[in-house]
Amino acid sequence: ELPEINGDFYELHLRLNEEDRALQLKVREFMEKEIKPLVNNYWLHDEFPYEIIPKFAELNLCGVTYKGYGCPGKSFLMEGIIAMEMARVDSSIATFFGVQSGLAMGSIYMCGSEAQKEEWLPKMQQLQAIGAFGLTEPEVGSGAAGGLTVTAKRTADGWVLNGQKKWIGNAPFADVTIVWARDLDDGQVKGFLVRKGTPGFAVEKIKGKMALRIVQNGLITMTDCVVEEKDRLQNANSFKDTARVLQMTRAGVAWMAVGCARGAYENALDYTRKRKQFGKPIASFQLIQNHLVEMLSNLTAMQSLVFRLSELQDQGMLRDEHASLAKVFCSLRTRDIVSKAREVMGGNGILLEYNVARFVADAEAIYSYEGTKEINSLIVGRAITGFSAFV
Ligand code: FAD
Repeated sequence: ELPEINGDFYELHLRLNEEDRALQLKVREFMEKEIKPLVNNYWLHDEFPYEIIPKFAELNLCGVTYKGYGCPGKSFLMEGIIAMEMARVDSSIATFFGVQSGLAMGSIYMCGSEAQKEEWLPKMQQLQAIGAFGLTEPEVGSGAAGGLTVTAKRTADGWVLNGQKKWIGNAPFADVTIVWARDLDDGQVKGFLVRKGTPGFAVEKIKGKMALRIVQNGLITMTDCVVEEKDRLQNANSFKDTARVLQMTRAGVAWMAVGCARGAYENALDYTRKRKQFGKPIASFQLIQNHLVEMLSNLTAMQSLVFRLSELQDQGMLRDEHASLAKVFCSLRTRDIVSKAREVMGGNGILLEYNVARFVADAEAIYSYEGTKEINSLIVGRAITGFSAFV
């Protein structure tokens, strides 16, 4: 009898208490039963499976770490485990969840007034309202810290927003989009809750992506879009506040990379044990075993790293450079792992139905979003050398 396929080689799950382990297995079962059968088809057609939203809501996962407002109030470690379990089956679904629960709800939780939290968090927690997070612009990506060009002009009764946002996940169907814009009066970045259907707020779906095709990304155009003062995030006063949200979610993206790598490794291992050439399973060949062990070594290192990352986060000790190092290391190694997974599957490795081709493509987006390898490396570089090399 063959050994069990288990990408958690060092049994890190033993660090979880019973309740958290049960939740991990519940998420795994949901992803395997409800999501896995759907994703290749939706990925192929560049569409989102809206029908999963009620079942997703029943899991009661959104706002994993937040306290109150119906949120689970779990640890950052559990937030990471959930991201990993989702991405182990599909990185698009994990990204949809990351935008909703992390970026959008997180902005409101960390930067909203009590009234804003009470209005939005309970219904977003239940996925009765979908959120998006608009930071990147057509001409401003890595340089968002100092370079945002979307403007916010204060008027007697509110604000007028103008400009464009690009790549905004969930935006084509979001009920609320957090728009980060520069205040024309004091030059600081502020956050705005822009409601679906607001006049002057147009969203166009970005088509033709070769990665994370299930995620619906939007190009947003704001033309004299009026937002009331009550919909300005009351505790977001500068880009530093945006960065607080990004630090939290970047740690989640490192976990997502681990999940993507783990899914690809487990699927490839399974394949090599079943596929025969020269009359033997290809898993019995030394060169194939070497590939598998290299994949597992990196995967195990990545998992050990993100476990510690989340411990730092749970102890309130997480710094930007910690999250950036994990994001760089994990998304880089994931690229290697998914590519080896494809390699050991030969031709079938490029067919969607074998559940590795999608991982290869999706790893490319994980590699670039929430700070590219270069930007996150520069954040770590600045912390360890004392010199900023951004410009
Ligand atoms: P650029 O900033 O133009 O970078 C191009 C290259 O130049 C990169 O390799 C970069 O590392 C390098 N580079 C830039 N500056 C330097 C430097 N100083 N030194 C060395 N190298 C440098 N954004 C949102 O706001 N909300 C979302 O929901 C969202 N979802 C996304 C989903 C997907 C699938 C993708 C692909 C992107 C998403 N983004 C989102 C945007 C994402 O965060 C940006 O793509 C990312 O920050 C990189 O910006 P850019 O694409 O403009 O690349």
